[in-house]
Amino acid sequence: MAHHIEVRVSPEIFASNIHHIRDRVTPAQLCVVMKANAYGHGLRALAPVAVAAGADYIGICTNPEATILRELGLTVKILRLRMGFPEEFEESIDVLDIEEQVGTLEAALYLSAAGVQRNRKIPVHLNIDTGMGRSGFFCHELEELKKVCGLPGLEIVGIMTHFASADGKDLVFTHQQIENFYNLRRALSDYLPDNILTHTHNSAATFRLGEQCNSLARVGAACYGVRTSQNFQNPSELQPVMSVKTKVAQVRKIPAGRTIGYSSLHTTQRESLIASLPVGFGEGYPRSLFNKGIVLIKGHRCPVVGRVSLNITTVDITDVPEPVKWGDEVVLVGKQGNEEITFEELADKFDSVHTEINLMAGFMNEIVYS
Ligand SMILES: *Cc1c(COP(=O)(O)O)cnc(C)c1O
Repeated sequence: MAHHIEVRVSPEIFASNIHHIRDRVTPAQLCVVMKANAYGHGLRALAPVAVAAGADYIGICTNPEATILRELGLTVKILRLRMGFPEEFEESIDVLDIEEQVGTLEAALYLSAAGVQRNRKIPVHLNIDTGMGRSGFFCHELEELKKVCGLPGLEIVGIMTHFASADGKDLVFTHQQIENFYNLRRALSDYLPDNILTHTHNSAATFRLGEQCNSLARVGAACYGVRTSQNFQNPSELQPVMSVKTKVAQVRKIPAGRTIGYSSLHTTQRESLIASLPVGFGEGYPRSLFNKGIVLIKGHRCPVVGRVSLNITTVDITDVPEPVKWGDEVVLVGKQGNEEITFEELADKFDSVHTEINLMAGFMNEIVYS
């Protein structure tokens, strides 16, 4: 490890996860979701891997993300996962060739006019809100949707919805959303071209709903090998793509009854060996992990004690049987010996999601790809 922290991302594991997901969703097409800089894993480095592994679409949110894909020379189809703004549409139409999501008549009219003006048809996906409650046409807006289907300058290439709780304890609400979606799809069938893409599934739905996958799956989390649902064990073929390591900055023997760190939140109950690590929330290690985090040293789980500071974290290594030295490897997320700490385990400790930690680690540090 060259520096004080190493965020490692494996393009090979990423490719292998996508191959596995491809097999799962075939004959449906696969949209590999790479928004938020590929969930913190690095869009520029991983997008060519996704395409080589068989992504039919790459899902993004912003024009700069699409620009990276085009700069890389990728001709893969790009799907915007939220509705764009007029300025984004203009660049998207003239330069980036993004398939836009449309969730209002206003946006559809804008794109329609832009298409008519350029004498071409702009590819769009109709976004239907079947229960997510964030965006899109409501299911009862049938008249608006029919109007959109008849607009010149547009080609409806897809109809989609997004699940609110495909990762939940049960799938009752998800099945309700599916029913709403297909009822609407049927009501619109005379107005839609044949063979448009129908897409509803995120990672959790792709693995939990079995054969009900439709013609395109939009899969994010599973590609990065992180858990798709607290209520579902990922297939073992899916492996985490990112790991994070650091090293021991100092080891000290602390008598019983002393406090450690800001606000003195931890008091040693016994004579303790405390190691300090050269990372903190400045490196994306969540401050909320104070007195809750776990790291691996010499293959043993060692608890974080006291506050996580900006660039220092303290861990209790009293119970590690081997001597621990300055510079010894510390695994923050990943495997060491027979032990493993996952993004999910850490996220569960402070009511977050693995993606938030992926993101922080990926955004705040240089990533090593190997
Ligand atoms: C982010 C996103 C996905 C991917 O969700 P995962 O749970 O990470 O698979 C799919 N569809 C839409 C519309 C999204 O915004």
